[in-house]
Amino acid sequence: MALIVQKYGGTSVGSPERIENVARRVARWHARGHQLVVVVSAMSGETNRLIALAKEIQEQPDPRELDVMVSTGEQVTIGLLAMALKKVGLKARSYTGAQVKIITDSAFTKARILKIDEERLRADLDDGCVVVVAGFQGVDEHGNITTLGRGGSDTTGVALAAALKAEECQIYTDVDGVYTTDPRIVPEARRLKTITFEEMLEMASLGSRVLQIRSVEFAGKYKVRLRVLSSFEDEGDGTLITFEEDENMEQAIISGIAFNRDEAKITILGVPDRPGIAYQILGPIGDANVDVDMIVQNVGYDGLTDFSFTVHRNDYQKTLKTLEPVVKHIQARGIISGDKIAKVSVVGVGMRSHAGIASTAFRTLAEEGINIEMISTSEIKISVVIDEKYTELAVRVLHKAFNLDQAS
Ligand code: ASP
Ligand code: MG
Repeated sequence: MALIVQKYGGTSVGSPERIENVARRVARWHARGHQLVVVVSAMSGETNRLIALAKEIQEQPDPRELDVMVSTGEQVTIGLLAMALKKVGLKARSYTGAQVKIITDSAFTKARILKIDEERLRADLDDGCVVVVAGFQGVDEHGNITTLGRGGSDTTGVALAAALKAEECQIYTDVDGVYTTDPRIVPEARRLKTITFEEMLEMASLGSRVLQIRSVEFAGKYKVRLRVLSSFEDEGDGTLITFEEDENMEQAIISGIAFNRDEAKITILGVPDRPGIAYQILGPIGDANVDVDMIVQNVGYDGLTDFSFTVHRNDYQKTLKTLEPVVKHIQARGIISGDKIAKVSVVGVGMRSHAGIASTAFRTLAEEGINIEMISTSEIKISVVIDEKYTELAVRVLHKAFNLDQAS
């Protein structure tokens, strides 16, 4: 007998029929003798609907009040699921985040979980109950309702698994696992049986949006066994997120090709080469709350440098505005910029011990005549910025070059 936390996302609980499906799945696990804590999201589309409603009253909704109302989406689902569980003959009890006592800080709309009081849940579990908990929400030390940021139910699941020392946290979603790349672009993409936490973080932040990044970080920190599975299939082991140190089998060198079309590139031309220049450029951007991703600068023979970096497309215009006075002040020659770019990344822990990955990637792109505008690397990934129109081609040829279509 094991204690298992299962989390079901919005599409998995998108209608009463689907909620009854979830109840049947939970019942099967329960029948095998497991104790179950089930975390649910709001029904699909509901959180968006609630946010839109708030915006009809206030363009920038008051964060505290927004959390009060947006958290109701999940409250509906827990009640419905507990009913469905009772209907199939199980003992079940539902709780909001505040009822459990999922204590968070007071950062409304993006709160962090500080601690969980798991006593009440334990008593229910020992009593044979399935416990249903609202994802995405908590309560601060003053009793205010908080939410954990979009996609936050994943984090609720992982945090409960950590607090209860669960055997496994299973994230049920509308895909059956983590793939070597987006199957809509490469039909030969394969589901990975395992992927390490670090790779998963790279894949997630690079645009393979299966799990909320914060939940992956949390699971890594508290050593929670995390698995992604489909709620629409009865079979299948999904993808297990592993810790590199307990990998005993031969690990693939490259796990996947990630891509991201959410960035824009900015180049400041003819920047004088002197100490403090990078700070003069990037300081104001940081102050404007804009995150910078890739950065490239290299001093030319004339003592001037072109300084390029990328930001999220949502921050593109704001960044250009911020830079106007900066460019004048540092006496650079001007700015060129564009948002028709894509970042494509080759990800794999095997890079640490295998040479030649970068040259294979660059040769593959060269053979297709794809120009690389920027390059950045870490221990386990190589990213390139290319013209957006070549995104799909680049992903396809890289996927093939690293034999990702072949079962390992
Ligand atoms: N319902 C919330 C959202 O849509 C939380 C979640 O689904 O994880 O972001
Ligand atoms: Mg989600």
